[in-house]
Amino acid sequence: MTYTCEQCGQEHEDWPALVFKAPDPYLALSEEDREKAELTKEICCIEEEDGTNQWYIRGVLTQYVYDACQYLDYGVWVSLSEASIKDYYEHYEDKTYKTTYFGWLVTNLPNYPANTTFGLPTNVEVDNSKGIPTILPHKKGDSIFIEEFYDGISTAEALLRIEAIINK
Ligand SMILES: [Zn+2]
Repeated sequence: MTYTCEQCGQEHEDWPALVFKAPDPYLALSEEDREKAELTKEICCIEEEDGTNQWYIRGVLTQYVYDACQYLDYGVWVSLSEASIKDYYEHYEDKTYKTTYFGWLVTNLPNYPANTTFGLPTNVEVDNSKGIPTILPHKKGDSIFIEEFYDGISTAEALLRIEAIINK
């Protein structure tokens, strides 16, 4: 799909959001354990062996692209505490609800070295008037991902990432 850009007035091609369908801990489960877990497009719950539940939600991580008029959106998963997920459920229907949770990123982004994005601390910004939460990685630690997230990537790099995921 192309559209006329409000910023530069030119035609641009829409970039697809790069959405991961499940959190990595779910993908790591056996077929049998997956049946016991719960997975929707936005929420996942896995029961641990000790009977506790691990909760995950999907949010949008927006990668800034420094030489384009648009951003690259990822659909990634974060883990939430029991208290946060309870709060999330309680306010799910409230379209005016805004809050911030702490979450651990539980998606390995394919274009970074293995296990360098999994487990990073993030803020999960909830604004129910806009849709699913926004994921903001904490600006600390030295990781190429954090650096690129805040400094931006090039259009060429964004297109490579889109191709890599679409052709997977
Ligand atoms: Zn433009």
